[in-house]
Amino acid sequence: MDRRYDPHVIEEKWQRSWKESDVYRTPDTSDRPKFYCLDFFPYPSGDGLSVGHCRNYVPTDAVSRYKCMNGFNVLHPMGWDAFGLPAENYAIKMGVHPRVTTERNIATYHRQMDLIGLSYDWSREITSCNPDYYRWTQWFFLLMYERGLAYRGTGQQWWCPSCKTILANEQVEQGKCWRCGSDVSKKDLEQWYFRITEYAQRLLDDLATIDWPEKIKLMQANWIGRSEGAEVDFALPGRDEPLTVFTTRPDTLYGATYMVLAPEHALVDELTTAEHREAVAAYQDAARRQSEIERLSTEKDKTGVFIGAYAVNPVNDARIPIWISDYVLMGYGTGAIMAVPAHDERDFQFATQFGLPIVEVIAPPEGAQGTLAEAYAGDGVMVNSGALDGLPAPGPAFDAIVAKLGEEGLARKTVNFKVRDWLLSRQRYWGVPIPIVYCEKCGAVPVPPEQLPVLLPDLDDYEPTDDGRSPLARAEDFVRTACPRCGGPARRETDTMDTFVCSSWYHFRFPSPHDDTAAFDPAATKYWLPVDLYVGGAEHAVMHLLYARFFCKVLEDAGFVDFGEPYATLRNQGMILAADGLKMSKSKGNVITPDSVVEKYGADALRVYELFIAPFEQNVAWSDRGVQGCFRFLSRFWNLVCEVVEAQGSGVAEGEADAGKGRQVLRTLNKTIRKVTRDMESFHFNTAVSALMELQNEVLDVWANARGALMPAQWREVVTDVTLLVAPMAPHLAEEVWEALGHGGTVLDASWPAWDEDLAADQVVTVVVQVNGKLRDRLEVPVEAQKDDVLAQARAAANTARFLEGKQVVKEIFVPGKLVNFVVK
Ligand SMILES: [Zn+2]
Ligand SMILES: [Zn+2]
Repeated sequence: MDRRYDPHVIEEKWQRSWKESDVYRTPDTSDRPKFYCLDFFPYPSGDGLSVGHCRNYVPTDAVSRYKCMNGFNVLHPMGWDAFGLPAENYAIKMGVHPRVTTERNIATYHRQMDLIGLSYDWSREITSCNPDYYRWTQWFFLLMYERGLAYRGTGQQWWCPSCKTILANEQVEQGKCWRCGSDVSKKDLEQWYFRITEYAQRLLDDLATIDWPEKIKLMQANWIGRSEGAEVDFALPGRDEPLTVFTTRPDTLYGATYMVLAPEHALVDELTTAEHREAVAAYQDAARRQSEIERLSTEKDKTGVFIGAYAVNPVNDARIPIWISDYVLMGYGTGAIMAVPAHDERDFQFATQFGLPIVEVIAPPEGAQGTLAEAYAGDGVMVNSGALDGLPAPGPAFDAIVAKLGEEGLARKTVNFKVRDWLLSRQRYWGVPIPIVYCEKCGAVPVPPEQLPVLLPDLDDYEPTDDGRSPLARAEDFVRTACPRCGGPARRETDTMDTFVCSSWYHFRFPSPHDDTAAFDPAATKYWLPVDLYVGGAEHAVMHLLYARFFCKVLEDAGFVDFGEPYATLRNQGMILAADGLKMSKSKGNVITPDSVVEKYGADALRVYELFIAPFEQNVAWSDRGVQGCFRFLSRFWNLVCEVVEAQGSGVAEGEADAGKGRQVLRTLNKTIRKVTRDMESFHFNTAVSALMELQNEVLDVWANARGALMPAQWREVVTDVTLLVAPMAPHLAEEVWEALGHGGTVLDASWPAWDEDLAADQVVTVVVQVNGKLRDRLEVPVEAQKDDVLAQARAAANTARFLEGKQVVKEIFVPGKLVNFVVK
């Protein structure tokens, strides 16, 4: 055997072998329990994979292999979220059709994934821009339509002037486009929506049923934004219809001293008096140019204008002025608020700024604030509230006031959600056509399922426009069609779908990827879903991860599946930063590719380092020395295997054996099997690798200095177990070693090693603890426990602590494995 570890020879050999034997093909069904391990649907960008992406793919690959060795039938597929803006923008810049660049990028990703030895079942590869996939994306749209969950509506929408398309609420971050970072503005367009708001409560409730990072669940809960409160009607003098507001604190109604409408509220124009019209129009104009985040900031000074009109507070008939201000948003509640400056921070700021009255109606438990220096939002007792004075607030006061106004038909309890319906129309070319036609006679008609797919035409002219019309609108051949209902002339919908629609259901496709009769096969779905483990970046907390949950619940309601959550367990990997601690980016030129690392150290060293680099969720900077260390670890393992293989059959001289050291090796081996097993189950890959490194150091030491401690056959067993433990991390080397040790088959078919609980048990000794030579406690500590640890435990022992209290320790006597004595005075 060649003692030199040459990863390139080994890796090429095994990648070829895996491919030839189709070893990663997953059977559709099996007697084995199933495990569906899925990576986030990647968008194949022109930059290819970086070592940062591998932080996602290597751990899931290791888990898949580990589960396979533990007797599971593992589904570990890969596909491409291939529609979307970047391909289209690149196409426009370079004049290459997005289909061409997408195919090229997919080929690069696939090559790189093979290069690092990922065990995907490529026979199940899916690509969202292929008609055999998007036909079913269109089918999902029809399902939504049929169930009243897809509708067309007009309204002011976020418009990205650079991407030249409408964006969903979730896709505007800090007032900027999530994709390109441009400032967004509002535009009025007729658009398609999915009624995700209908599922708000269930999307919130079911978070409790899934094993996801708390951080992500909290972000979803905040995004859904449930609040309990009441709708209260304020009469408008001279007008029949009242002005309705949503408030979470109806108990503070007596403190409502003015009202505020969102500047874009429909009533503003009607209510504004002539003398205020000019100021109001100017203010509305300025507000339109601001983002929601800017508008909601508590940092900036409050702005607003009085519109000249008044509303009547239903509890005391007070006439209160109506203002408009940008801190009230149209999208939340009714777009109007009753302002209670004494008990709301933003109202307080506003009232202070404009000299509006501030009336205290909730006194803090320690007594009325009297002259208010700031808003008090806490619990307390009602004051200045007529018959309600003295009631605890909010609880009983809330109920009393809603009940009283309720009798007069002026208030009712409601629940409000912040989440908005999902706007899915995009005025761009590279996406799934929305399967709707508009007929002069019949109006909007869905394309019948048997006529799907509505093919995306092959256009050469796919530039977006500033007027909000999709490039498809220029393709007359595409647009002109016959109405499916009456056969008369009709025009196709020309907007395409948000690409997040494609990724909302792809996990349903992998179990039956070639089914041309349905989006997913019922039997395959029943066996494989939901996904057992789902891994990807935390940045998708409120887009993809919310939409996919929504789709699943719709399928559940439609009777297609009997579960409502698509991903049982979710984990988010940390980011890999460049060696200088900065984010890797093409523009900074600090991107590290797997190709360059594999060329230097091989795929297995890269894989082990990806697992070892840091705790899985943590961001961490890349270190070339770290990869070198992992390469050395594998290299020394290879050397050891070579020597162990050569030593097979050689006898051991009588008396040479060092039984104690042999037992110690076996003990560490069993402890390591236990540790690595538990770490693989709990996503602690870094400590699994370090346990293997420690084991290897001990094995190498005994091998070098006391080889006779174990028989040659025992050494072979030790190395065999280590090979199995290493196999999910460094599969190429493991296969080579497996073969060298003379085992048959592939290491993936071998069983994960079991540990012997007796051997793995910690060896403990009893240490007596004395204070001034008198026995006070006995401690059980591990044999290898360090002095400081034992002393700390001794000091904390109950009886000892009592005798040390108030005393000064002048001396600590420590006899390892036997005794601790504190000398005190
Ligand atoms: Zn943009
Ligand atoms: Zn028609």
